[in-house]
Amino acid sequence: MANISFENTETAFEYKTNNELKKAKFLFASMAKPLLVKVGTKITPLLIKAHLPINGLIRNTIFAQFVGGETLQETTKVIERLAKFHVQVILDYGVEGKEGEENFDQARDEFINVIEYAATQPHVPFISVKLTGLARFSLLEKLNDDANYNDVLNGIINTNNLNDNEKNEWQNVVDRLDKICATAIKSDTGVLIDAEESWIQNPVDALTMQMMQKYNVGKPVVYNTVQLYRHHRLQFLKESYEVSKRNNYLLGVKPVRGAYMEKERKRASLLHYRSPIQPDKEHTDEDYNEALKFCIEHIQNIFIIVASHNEESNLLATQLMQRSRINADSNHVLFSQLYGMSDNITFNLAKAGFNASKYLPFGPIKDVIPYLMRRAQENSSVSGQTGRELSLIKKEMKRRQQTTNY
Ligand SMILES: Cc1cc2nc3c(=O)[nH]c(=O)nc-3n(C[C@H](O)[C@H](O)[C@H](O)COP(=O)(O)OP(=O)(O)OC[C@H]3O[C@@H](n4cnc5c(N)ncnc54)[C@H](O)[C@@H]3O)c2cc1C
Repeated sequence: MANISFENTETAFEYKTNNELKKAKFLFASMAKPLLVKVGTKITPLLIKAHLPINGLIRNTIFAQFVGGETLQETTKVIERLAKFHVQVILDYGVEGKEGEENFDQARDEFINVIEYAATQPHVPFISVKLTGLARFSLLEKLNDDANYNDVLNGIINTNNLNDNEKNEWQNVVDRLDKICATAIKSDTGVLIDAEESWIQNPVDALTMQMMQKYNVGKPVVYNTVQLYRHHRLQFLKESYEVSKRNNYLLGVKPVRGAYMEKERKRASLLHYRSPIQPDKEHTDEDYNEALKFCIEHIQNIFIIVASHNEESNLLATQLMQRSRINADSNHVLFSQLYGMSDNITFNLAKAGFNASKYLPFGPIKDVIPYLMRRAQENSSVSGQTGRELSLIKKEMKRRQQTTNY
């Protein structure tokens, strides 16, 4: 197995033209300006709502960097381009925050559509699903409060405190996800269930465990997401493994650090409960890396998506694989980064023969705005990813200038 370096910018950006690289530089340099991001993320959703003509500007900048297209068909170009460099795609239908039974049914149909499309694409092994796209947030909150830890692990959801209407509503949610998973198993496509806010996570976990129990027999179809920025999630991961072994199904898991830290801390402080988030980054990192170690040491029964932009964690995963004599291209391990970020990780892993992929969202501009605003915020902290992205882009531009092809 080759030693990996994430410093190789030629490999990282081979798929980008000079012009695209310049655009990316401009975008990341803009996102490094906290005031611009603060104002931009506040007013952009308002401008869109007011139907002001900013779609063109968004489409050519932040949308082009982080999103695969407005429609499923538009993603084909990106998928084919990434495939040339052996990078696979996890399709993410990026519509968020639409409630109501009709919208949930529509989202179910769209997810099924995406699965059927993925089945026609040799380089799209997975789609991702947010349960809040299929269920009312406050219903999930209510179920969360009455959940019992062991029930959750065993895929059991306590609906005792729901009234008859709510029980029907919940049954609809179960049926929607079940239909999605049934289509996925037929189409040989995997379904990754995203993790969301801690105060709705119990029913998300329970339903995902239930689906794994039903569908992950013989091959992995459903994957849960575990957020290691939360206390005790490492334990939850280990116990999920025990349950899957006992019940003879395969555990699909996507360990992430977690995306809702500010929101989690704010709510905990407002409602006076102990924050579910680790005391500091070091504790999160420690648990994340431990989670990788646990999964790789128990790989016979686990299928894992290493979903991180952290170079150390990605490197560690490759070393752990090597130590456990797991082939780079084993279908038990897939690396994944968000489209538009950390190309140095994805493309260098792919070049070294690992299964590497991009999470590729798509959807109408107005619907993917929340996703785009999160990317802008995430990339705006000086200590964060932007500095690294920018320096890699500059390094590559310089390298190209010194060669004849610029
Ligand atoms: C393919 C993919 C799928 C994803 N799916 C999901 C998902 O389903 N649900 C979800 O919530 N997120 C998801 N994420 C986002 C992920 O949780 C992280 O927010 C993001 O990837 C940044 O973490 P990192 O591992 O890349 O690396 P880093 O940049 O090393 O870590 C940053 C992360 O560390 C944690 N952190 C930072 N400061 C502190 C602190 N002071 N104390 C405690 N922890 C801290 C936070 O989680 C922060 O996001 C996904 C990411 C990828 C790449």
